[in-house]
Amino acid sequence: MSIYSDFRSVQDEIYKCMKCGNCQEVCPLYKATRKEVTVARGKIGLLEMFVTGEAEMTAGMAERMSYCTTCMACNEKCPCGVQFDRILLAARAEGVRRHGLHPVKKTAFTALRLQRFFDFGMRTGSRLQGAIFSRVAGRDYGARMRVDMGLLGRKKVFPRLAAKPFRADRPTVYVPRPRMKAAFFTGCMINYFYSDIGEAVLGVLKRNNVEVSIPEEQGCCGVPASVNGDVESARALARRNLKAFEASGADALIVSCSSCGSAWKHSYERLLEEDAVYRPLAAKWAARAYDISEFLVRVIDYDRESLGRIERKVTYHDPCHLRRGQNIFLEPRAILRSIPGVELIELQKPDRCCGMAGSFCIVHPDLADKVLAEKMADVARTPAQTVATGCPACRLQLWSGLINTGLPQDAVHVVQLLNESYERAAESGATRA
Ligand code: SF4
Ligand code: SF4
Repeated sequence: MSIYSDFRSVQDEIYKCMKCGNCQEVCPLYKATRKEVTVARGKIGLLEMFVTGEAEMTAGMAERMSYCTTCMACNEKCPCGVQFDRILLAARAEGVRRHGLHPVKKTAFTALRLQRFFDFGMRTGSRLQGAIFSRVAGRDYGARMRVDMGLLGRKKVFPRLAAKPFRADRPTVYVPRPRMKAAFFTGCMINYFYSDIGEAVLGVLKRNNVEVSIPEEQGCCGVPASVNGDVESARALARRNLKAFEASGADALIVSCSSCGSAWKHSYERLLEEDAVYRPLAAKWAARAYDISEFLVRVIDYDRESLGRIERKVTYHDPCHLRRGQNIFLEPRAILRSIPGVELIELQKPDRCCGMAGSFCIVHPDLADKVLAEKMADVARTPAQTVATGCPACRLQLWSGLINTGLPQDAVHVVQLLNESYERAAESGATRA
């Protein structure tokens, strides 16, 4: 029984909770609000009443399920092993079955399913963005909305939309006698905003003799739809991506976004549990999916001899869906430490959520800002010059926080620093002494 199809599938998970409240200690939303509804225990209490028939799942109860960044810190802390993320996803799907989707979300997820239409919209948006966004003074990146449209407000800093999507006309990167053939799943953030991360992924793989193709028919990973309870859209997107990668003939699938990685490794199998055709494909590609840092460190043992020097103090933010969703936290640090001249300075709480959480920061912008403020205070305590992370969505949130807090650091993906290091060595003709 899939968590996405039948809420009863998480009934036992709900009963595991002994209401000890340990999850309060780690929940970023509880820390920001001190309200029980924001923590796992509060939501489980409500859902228990629904399971036992003491309460209906009203629109109000469904709305309370939006108070979660899906950071999974409570899963890790829970002495009873409650997997709250499973409960929450099932509850949100149940809420949509009973009360439907908010019209804005419905429009957004329908557009994501119509990839060519979405692509056209983003290209048009890129041409019109000057009318909607103004550049952030004193920075060569980032833009804010000119008018407060009531969603993210005027404070939020966005990356500028790329003039052309990253995947447009992108040929396979061939290398002579490749050691492996990989296919790159870019995700929407890299395709439309952060093409610099995509370029770094291609650059690093090429230097390590890996051939990379970018399957054209890929689309959104489906996480925005699945975490908001739109199971049918998430399934449609999962099937499209599986079909595209199955046709690629690649040995490995590379992602550099933590949510996309979690989708390929975990969500697709759960979403397609009852689909006899696509479930085996989901299992096959889950086994072949790698975060870029995991692939470099664990699979190909990347070249450390051709790295150039970057004199920089760097700190690292763990994306929740990389650290807790995929157990990847050593690999990005190993990469940073391997770059000559980079000094890695740990945050006090590197794995504390940054507050981005996809649509969470749109639905609850003030709360997202409070969570982000904690992260910024942590960054400000370090002498770091750069904040590195392993996810483009976290990078966006960190950018916004750094700029709005007046901190001078830039935020980059780890793979960008690695690529920069290779490029420096290539430019100077020097290799590591
Ligand atoms: S820590 Fe686990 S058992 Fe304790 S209240 Fe939270 S979810 Fe329930
Ligand atoms: S997943 Fe994170 S935000 Fe959600 S209840 Fe658990 S600790 Fe709080």
